[in-house]
Amino acid sequence: MAERTNLLDFTLPRLTEWLAQQGEKPFRAKQVFRWIHQRGVADFAQMTDLAKSLREKLEATAEVRLPSILSEHRSADGTVKWLFDVGVGNGIETVFIPEDDRGTLCVSSQVGCALDCKFCSTGRQGFNRDLAVGEIVGQLWVANRRLAEMADAGLPYRLSKGEDADGVPLDVEERDERRPVTNVVMMGMGEPLNNFVPVTDAMEVMLDDFAYGLSRRRVTLSTSGVVPQIRKLKERLPVALAVSLHAPNDAIRSRIMPVNDAYPIATLLAACRDYLEVAPRDFITFEYVMLKGVNDAPDHARELARTLKAAKVPAKFNLIPFNPFPDSGFEKTERERVHLFQKILIDAGYVATIRKTRGDDIDAACGQLAGQVVNRMKKKTVQVHRQARPH
Ligand code: SAH
Ligand code: SF4
Repeated sequence: MAERTNLLDFTLPRLTEWLAQQGEKPFRAKQVFRWIHQRGVADFAQMTDLAKSLREKLEATAEVRLPSILSEHRSADGTVKWLFDVGVGNGIETVFIPEDDRGTLCVSSQVGCALDCKFCSTGRQGFNRDLAVGEIVGQLWVANRRLAEMADAGLPYRLSKGEDADGVPLDVEERDERRPVTNVVMMGMGEPLNNFVPVTDAMEVMLDDFAYGLSRRRVTLSTSGVVPQIRKLKERLPVALAVSLHAPNDAIRSRIMPVNDAYPIATLLAACRDYLEVAPRDFITFEYVMLKGVNDAPDHARELARTLKAAKVPAKFNLIPFNPFPDSGFEKTERERVHLFQKILIDAGYVATIRKTRGDDIDAACGQLAGQVVNRMKKKTVQVHRQARPH
């Protein structure tokens, strides 16, 4: 039998087209889309307001193929990390970070990454393959489902606060449909802009009112700075943008990020400035991983502020404590030095935050994801055993 069509791979226009080819009206596509994404239903038999004939047709030719969970870990601070199976020997990670006013899901876009940033464990593992739309959206689908189940079991993943994260009261229908994930950051494994079509299609589903209904401000794409693709994103789907800058000048950046040889800082910042013409926020977030003795001196902070001022890019900085991994060759900057770096940026007139490390006990920080997929899979039995012990 031919492989079934995975409806999780479809944006709403694609699903509409696919159903039209089988003689179905456009409103049927909206109904099916809502069942899958809003109500989290993967079984066609449960889609009760569809005609029986359509349900049978779907059952015969299609499926909602979800990524299967290899492991799930809950941190003491509420952070949850999943390892998903995406084929023999491969895993991708997804992390949920609950905060008082939002729930952020850190989503992966590729298995591995080709860009070879020297401080990144995903880069170290090399590139394996791109994720399909359904594998990207599937991370969100499964996270919402598992978090709802955890909330039902009494864990503090509230589904209905009666208001959204901006304090606006929700109407009753929205309240019923409220899902734990309110924000998505494309900051897991992979370079999202190097998997452009699937990633932007997946984000289109995240934004669709008939699916997850997230606003463009609540979906952030993080890139190492693939300039032509930043320009394409501006045309296709301008969500909030975070850029991994990590250095105040080209000499340092090229040493730790080979992508800088192709797209040096001036070119990158010009693309950022143009992006802001359509971005949902009026600044770009610049991520800056603090590497001891490499990019963390007070002079680097001053140079960074000067570079951004000269490029006229409204910016916020997010200083990221380095997540060490075996044989990385880098070390963490001491706390005081991170604070000093932050103070210099603030004194220069910038908002600069230090990323809180969450889920430390389960290795769940962004940028730390699935660096050791193969190891982890080998250790799986051990982990499941450990997880089962009450703490
Ligand atoms: N490829 C994209 C998104 C995934 S990486 C990008 O590079 O932006 C998400 C963030 O984690 C990036 O800012 C990345 O530079 C950072 N990161 C990678 N390795 C890290 C490490 N070992 N410690 C801290 N941050 C890291
Ligand atoms: Fe790829 Fe981002 Fe890691 Fe660089 S930091 S290797 S772009 S995942």
